Amino acid sequence: MALLDPATRQALEARLRFYRELGLTDFYRRPAAAGQASAAGLVVSEPETQSNLEEPDSIPPRKPIFSPPPISEAVEQDRAAALRLIREDIGDCTRCALHKGRNKLVFGDGDPEARLMFVGEGPGADEDAQGLPFVGRAGQLLNNMIGAMGLKREQVYIANVVKCRPPQNRTPEPEEANTCSPFLFRQIDVIRPEVIVALGATAATYLLGQRQPLAGLRGRVHSWRGSKLIVTYHPAFLLRDPRQKKEAWADLQIAMRELGLKLPSKSEV
Ligand code: URA
Repeated sequence: MALLDPATRQALEARLRFYRELGLTDFYRRPAAAGQASAAGLVVSEPETQSNLEEPDSIPPRKPIFSPPPISEAVEQDRAAALRLIREDIGDCTRCALHKGRNKLVFGDGDPEARLMFVGEGPGADEDAQGLPFVGRAGQLLNNMIGAMGLKREQVYIANVVKCRPPQNRTPEPEEANTCSPFLFRQIDVIRPEVIVALGATAATYLLGQRQPLAGLRGRVHSWRGSKLIVTYHPAFLLRDPRQKKEAWADLQIAMRELGLKLPSKSEV
């Protein structure tokens, strides 16, 4: 029988709870293959739903994107280097007032070649302390959402509308968001993800350039700068109102369909 250390058990329980909240209830135990046991002699198997039966590595290759934004050959060849140049341009930024309360600037995190990108609002306390996006409670939920899509966090790219934490986690002011978002757009132009998921109203507003209730933006695919944009609830909102997780899962399934990822079949949900 597999023995789990308390941290792994807790993470596994959280993941199972999340799947149940989405309505995914059938799990199969994958037999531990020879050599799968960790150095500590522990075997940890992921809960197998249809959505993660496919190995993450087997996701289909990037599809050609129609009307891509103009991009130089150098950028095309080395996206990571292009992202580093954008980071250098930002420097020790003082372009808006948010820099005054900043500990660490949160540039973005993930695969520069990602086919899927998530855009949030702005760093919170944990992100400001670590310099990485979505590493607090909302980040754990986002990790679970990514896992439910059959992907790993390292396979996607995550960034925010503003790169410095707003005081008391308030919504960024238009002046702050408009000063910072050109850097986000440059990141997107380098990564050129096939699908962008806007997490919450702030991301949707500053990506689409129009303020609209989330209800009118969710549930469909928007064309945006050569990518497909899907709008869903912010994980922090889902933590406050978990009943909306099913709605968010429906949005994520639209993203999965656009990426050609395997959807869980009806009988498994
Ligand atoms: N909320 C966000 O919008 N972004 C983060 O990085 C963390 C929490």
